[in-house]
Amino acid sequence: MSYVIIGNSVAAIGAIEAIRKVDKEINITVISDEPYLVYSRPLISEFLAGQVKEEMMGYREPGFYEKNGVTTKLGKRVVAIDSAKKSVKLDNGEEVAYGKLLIATGGTPFIPPMKGLGKERIYTFIKMDDAKQIDALVPEMDHVVIIGAGLIGLKAAESLHHRGVEVTVVELANRVMAAVLDVDAGGIVQSALEKAGINIVTENTVDEILGGKAANGVRLKDGREIRCDAVIVAIGVVPNAVFAKESGVEVNRGIVTDNHMRTNLPDVYAAGDVTEGPDYLNGGNRVIPIWPNAYIQGKIAGLNMAGVEREFTGGLAMNSIELFGVPVITAGLSNIDSDDLEVLTKIENGNYRKIVLRGSTIVGAVFVGKIDRAGIITGLIRDQIDISSMRDRLLADDFGYIDFPVELRKERLGAVAK
Ligand SMILES: Cc1cc2nc3c(=O)[nH]c(=O)nc-3n(C[C@H](O)[C@H](O)[C@H](O)COP(=O)(O)OP(=O)(O)OC[C@H]3O[C@@H](n4cnc5c(N)ncnc54)[C@H](O)[C@@H]3O)c2cc1C
Repeated sequence: MSYVIIGNSVAAIGAIEAIRKVDKEINITVISDEPYLVYSRPLISEFLAGQVKEEMMGYREPGFYEKNGVTTKLGKRVVAIDSAKKSVKLDNGEEVAYGKLLIATGGTPFIPPMKGLGKERIYTFIKMDDAKQIDALVPEMDHVVIIGAGLIGLKAAESLHHRGVEVTVVELANRVMAAVLDVDAGGIVQSALEKAGINIVTENTVDEILGGKAANGVRLKDGREIRCDAVIVAIGVVPNAVFAKESGVEVNRGIVTDNHMRTNLPDVYAAGDVTEGPDYLNGGNRVIPIWPNAYIQGKIAGLNMAGVEREFTGGLAMNSIELFGVPVITAGLSNIDSDDLEVLTKIENGNYRKIVLRGSTIVGAVFVGKIDRAGIITGLIRDQIDISSMRDRLLADDFGYIDFPVELRKERLGAVAK
């Protein structure tokens, strides 16, 4: 019997490391359509900015695969799973048999229908090769239009700005990072971007990408035209699950798993951004496309594949990002309107803090600017601590362990707590 893992990123590494803790012998084969050993995907923006070299981006040392007895098939795409035969089919026609299979294929950029797609110089920004292609063009580029002001679009904007390229970001919502930030928080981040020289166009979208063979401009919904040398589409990322669905795997928004990371097919597991795994704040299943979540899901999948029963207790959506010197942390239900949620906010000196409560527990938080207390609040979210006794202090600048009830403080700080 052997284990096959589709995808070679953080969820795959979590699984390999977990399997090897239990079983040193079993064959593991990793198949990836990217030609690289595992790298830190979030660092592609630092690579494009010229701040990190490719050789510094490895997530594990190059000898990792050999040391762990893993066979790699890189630059090969899985196109189908035959669950009756227990094999996967690759794009070169090869078939690879599995005893147990992990699908860890991550996300793929969402590209809405738009006139002018298919030209050269239109990019997405989620892979090393995307960053390399854009990087190679930087010397010839004066102006780039980025469609989408989410985390990935803004990271690309910052990188290109750092390289001296003028950037215009076009966003359909009325603010940047609208999925996680409200108007006040988004406004602070947007001001920092604009102050640094990024052009932001909100409540608008690109109707058409202009140019002949290659993109050389965009036409916005309001008719305005912007000349540019390249376009980056960064509207969002969706689970990369089409071939899995066509092979009989149950897919809703992402691949549906139980809390052992098992799919509906026997001996087929899924982990990471491709997965719609258990969400412990809201119940039910949810795609939580962040790096730490992918590692933990991979690890839980790996343990269960190797016969050690472990449950994934649920993911917490959390992001920490710094844009033009403004740190932003979002956690949990940071920007959801619902009758059962109560929102506390504070804006002061360009700093923003938001706490979202459901009854007497915190279920979401946003910190912009001053973030030094974020870890304490996210700990309260993660452990669903009753905050009734400290409710009035949650927005205080100096909120801390001192505000915790004595028993909780002792539990958190141990012997040093008084
Ligand atoms: C620019 C950028 C910045 C980010 N910043 C952060 C951050 O600050 N914090 C954070 O927590 N997260 C961040 N993320 C998200 C984070 O990178 C992802 O959550 C994480 O990489 C998901 O890991 P994964 O293993 O599920 O899949 P992925 O990393 O998406 O990898 C999946 C792999 O599977 C391969 N694959 C797909 N289909 C097939 C197939 N059919 N056959 C073979 N191989 C296939 C893909 O090519 C890819 O190599 C960022 C992402 C990007 C793009």
